[in-house]
Amino acid sequence: MSGAKALRAVPVGEAAAHGACLVCTVLRHHQTRLVEVTGVPKASHLCNHHAWSLARSAPAELAAEMYAQVLFERRKNSGGTERTCTFCAELQHEEKARLDELVEQMKIPSFTAWMRRSGTLCLWHAQRLADRLPTGTRPIIEEVLTRTEEELEVDLRKCAAEAKLGHHAGSGVLGRVAEFLVCQRGIPGEEKPC
Ligand SMILES: [Zn+2]
Ligand SMILES: [Zn+2]
Repeated sequence: MSGAKALRAVPVGEAAAHGACLVCTVLRHHQTRLVEVTGVPKASHLCNHHAWSLARSAPAELAAEMYAQVLFERRKNSGGTERTCTFCAELQHEEKARLDELVEQMKIPSFTAWMRRSGTLCLWHAQRLADRLPTGTRPIIEEVLTRTEEELEVDLRKCAAEAKLGHHAGSGVLGRVAEFLVCQRGIPGEEKPC
């Protein structure tokens, strides 16, 4: 799948349903596929997060193959200095492609109307998207962030009140706030895991 269609297909609907960042949702799916199904070609270095994701989540056969590749590359380079996690690099590549798609979609009035009404972005992707948009379109991103923050604050207060009563329903908001603040786990952001 490629182009704007890919972004619209599964993840946007799913992201909207859960109040999740559009880009994080796409990347989360991509990351799961990389770790649990396909692996990455020529893995040469693993960050803390992805090394342990393989041990925890990947089928043993795939994890063994990925680890063997990393050890092989390490030995080939005489224990060299490769410091970029191959999974992180792949995710960054995907992130850039998806942001470019989103820039194209932001030219469609019905899409921007939907974004203002119900779209969600985390702080990290909001900034990356705003940097790519023409100045005139950037205020829409501010609107999305303000609305999202307000919604999260309301849901957090509800969650805290419920928790005091011993109910744990609605704790999904905690994950949404974490995503809003630092984007999805494993996606290389400012605080690079490697
Ligand atoms: Zn995000
Ligand atoms: Zn990584």
